[in-house]
Amino acid sequence: MTEQLSDAGPPGSFPRPGKWQQARVTEIRQETPTAKTFRLALSEPAPYLAGQHFLIRLTAPDGYRAQRSYSVASAPGDSGEIELTVEHLPDGEVSSFLHEVVMVGDELEVRGPIGGWFVWRGDTPAVLIGGGSGIVPLMSMLRLARRSGRQDLLRLVVSVRRPAELYYAAELPGPQTTIIYTRSTPPSWPRLAGRLSPADLPGPLNPEATGFVCGSSGFADAATTVLHGAGMPVERIRIERFGPTG
Ligand SMILES: Cc1cc2nc3c(=O)[nH]c(=O)nc-3n(C[C@H](O)[C@H](O)[C@H](O)COP(=O)(O)OP(=O)(O)OC[C@H]3O[C@@H](n4cnc5c(N)ncnc54)[C@H](O)[C@@H]3O)c2cc1C
Repeated sequence: MTEQLSDAGPPGSFPRPGKWQQARVTEIRQETPTAKTFRLALSEPAPYLAGQHFLIRLTAPDGYRAQRSYSVASAPGDSGEIELTVEHLPDGEVSSFLHEVVMVGDELEVRGPIGGWFVWRGDTPAVLIGGGSGIVPLMSMLRLARRSGRQDLLRLVVSVRRPAELYYAAELPGPQTTIIYTRSTPPSWPRLAGRLSPADLPGPLNPEATGFVCGSSGFADAATTVLHGAGMPVERIRIERFGPTG
């Protein structure tokens, strides 16, 4: 769930979801052993902001429906195509279907973009902290910053258990990013395996920066505590939780 109502904010200040539409799967990439990126060509172009998400809705032959939220990983700009990265959860209804059944050329039903709170427009300083699949919306922000030459505005801290679980491993590293491994590290990694701590934050925080925290509920709480402990007021911290749907 989002920390604040997804569509909060002044009307018209961010792209809102259109109707349900068909999207064709044009590419599927394996990001990690348990995560795949799906590139979708939308039948109705949908401009979006970094941090927003789309709904995917599956309908069974008997009419049973299930829908889930997936953040956009690609940078805003090409409104006709989006990339979603999905972690395969054991026994997960929708993520299992996407991983085990969906192929390039298939059509999916999607609706979006959704969310007016957890968005970065690309022109203000921000500190991003993501755990596991919580990196996905932050990757959209990082890609936007790099594409627009505003890398100076962003600092991204990513926490994963082990090297094989790092999403976007070839693209992520750079002066703007810090990678934290909690269980095991690559050989000769300068930091010991361990949980996120204040020492992992990128230097003194810019007092103008907004914090964007995304991941499981437990991770979001821990990362928020670290950011707040480093001096960021809670009202500057925006949180997106990728928890169980209940
Ligand atoms: C705004 C938003 C954006 C999201 N973006 C992404 C994204 O970019 N990539 C992504 O992979 N997921 C994302 N999620 C999570 C996603 O919506 C689904 O919850 C997730 O894919 C599980 O759905 P499922 O149908 O496979 O599992 P379900 O059938 O719903 O659940 C299967 C089992 O897993 C547990 N579970 C459900 N969700 C999670 C979870 N997120 N973490 C751990 N356990 C869980 C359930 O309690 C249950 O035991 C996002 C969620 C929100 C609210």
